[in-house]
Amino acid sequence: DLQPLRRALLSVSDKTGLIDLARALSDRGVELLSTGGSAAAIRDAGLPVRDVSEVTKFPEMMDGRVKTLHPVVHGGLLAVRDDAGHVAAMTEHGIDPIDLVVVNLYPFEATVARGAGFAETIENIDIGGPAMIRSAAKNHAFVNVVVDVEDYAPLLAELEANDGRTTLAFRQSLAQTAYARTAAYDTAVSTWMAGAIGETAPRRQSVSGTLAQTLRYGENPHQAAAFYTDGTARAGVATATQVQGKELSYNNINDTDAAYELVAEFADLGPCCVIVKHANPCGVAKGDTLEAAYRAAYDCDRTSAFGGIVALNQPLDEATAKAIVEIFTEVVIAPGASEAAKAVFAAKRNLRLLLTDGLPDPAAGGMTVKQVSGGFLVQGKDTGQISEADLKVVTKVQPTPEQMADLRFAWIVAKHVKSNAIVYVKDGATVGVGAGQMSRVDSTRIAARKAEDMAEACGLPASPAKGSVVASDAFFPFADGVITAVEAGAVALIQPGGSMRDAEVIAAADEAGIAMVFTGMRHFRH
Ligand code: 5GP
Repeated sequence: DLQPLRRALLSVSDKTGLIDLARALSDRGVELLSTGGSAAAIRDAGLPVRDVSEVTKFPEMMDGRVKTLHPVVHGGLLAVRDDAGHVAAMTEHGIDPIDLVVVNLYPFEATVARGAGFAETIENIDIGGPAMIRSAAKNHAFVNVVVDVEDYAPLLAELEANDGRTTLAFRQSLAQTAYARTAAYDTAVSTWMAGAIGETAPRRQSVSGTLAQTLRYGENPHQAAAFYTDGTARAGVATATQVQGKELSYNNINDTDAAYELVAEFADLGPCCVIVKHANPCGVAKGDTLEAAYRAAYDCDRTSAFGGIVALNQPLDEATAKAIVEIFTEVVIAPGASEAAKAVFAAKRNLRLLLTDGLPDPAAGGMTVKQVSGGFLVQGKDTGQISEADLKVVTKVQPTPEQMADLRFAWIVAKHVKSNAIVYVKDGATVGVGAGQMSRVDSTRIAARKAEDMAEACGLPASPAKGSVVASDAFFPFADGVITAVEAGAVALIQPGGSMRDAEVIAAADEAGIAMVFTGMRHFRH
């Protein structure tokens, strides 16, 4: 299955590494064909190259829409080299075989990312490139197809190892990558188009990504797993640089994402910290300093914080780093770190430190995908935000401005807690989180008990739930949740409202003499 490589067609938008590749191929005696810009670059480097237009006897036309779409090119790619009929057709029509296609496509994804208009975006849909990639990949029994700059070196190594030829296994691997590339390209086009024409439920939908990391395993050791990125995040776990520590695991990536997305909601609130365990926050706090924020978040649930994921909304400083290394932490993610902070972490070799350029954008749209048996569910990201004007006080008692600030803080935390979510907050810090229960009253009880545990762990004179505010991610269906929160010491509540029994629920709050605010928005998260 070794095939010689005599003739190559190079047509690339990203010219990185092009000249080195062209020179190495040329040195091996490979004849080079190329399109306009690529040919000019190769020729400028003093290397021999033929223009495709000379071979097709057609000029590149229609603003480059038609360059390589010609039987001389596609016949040269698709011909079965040992089929007498195909060989006869090549001879009859003056078609020479092409053994290698190197193509990277018009930068469609980058064009969308920089917010180009409709017409310009359409013009950046590559047609001839994907056509050549697909022809070459189909005929991988004979033809090599390279779509990524990262594959230039492996191609040259393969030629070196096999005396200027390539193995079938190598060409198969290239072909698989090639089809994934054209699939991802068309996915990007169709996803953009759905948005551009306002289609919220397109009849066909695909998702695609680029392998960022193979993972040792998934949620459990018997599950295979990998991490794919789709290039859509401004900042986040997918764009982060790992400064130190062990390789990230599947659960690390999932939890880090949850932690960072939450802390990013508090970008304008001064120093804030989130600690996540099993995709739920077990401590969220703001502070006068980052260290104070970390310590307050840690105090919410010291037991759960052990082995947690810490996300910060400001660059990690030395004092915070010293506080974090007092216990075992899996991952820390932040928009930067001081050299002194990095030095503190360096002593803890296993601690993973991830740094990003800026914070995630909580208002950024996009979709979430959830696999179900036989298909997948797609929805817009929960970017719902409430403003002052959305809030409706439904009780006789009004919340104080301090309580209102805590209510809004608790509400945002609750958005990031698995349903049923109940969050107790006092003085800008969670003091009890009830997550993932099947009944809302159970979440309310669990969160209150967590607050009692905190009193014990931190040596507080009373449960911090006394005088706290409480957020509920969805409406209280009955008064029992409200009564439970009041018994624990809550003095103000925030919830969407909208239950059949709102009147009973409001009456319970009035009875207890506490304030309750309706948001009109629900934040289920499963
Ligand atoms: P160059 O910079 O060499 O002029 O153009 C390279 C780009 O043109 C590559 O991204 C390649 O995929 C693309 N390309 C090659 N042939 C065609 C074609 O026939 N039509 C279109 N639209 N693009 C092509």
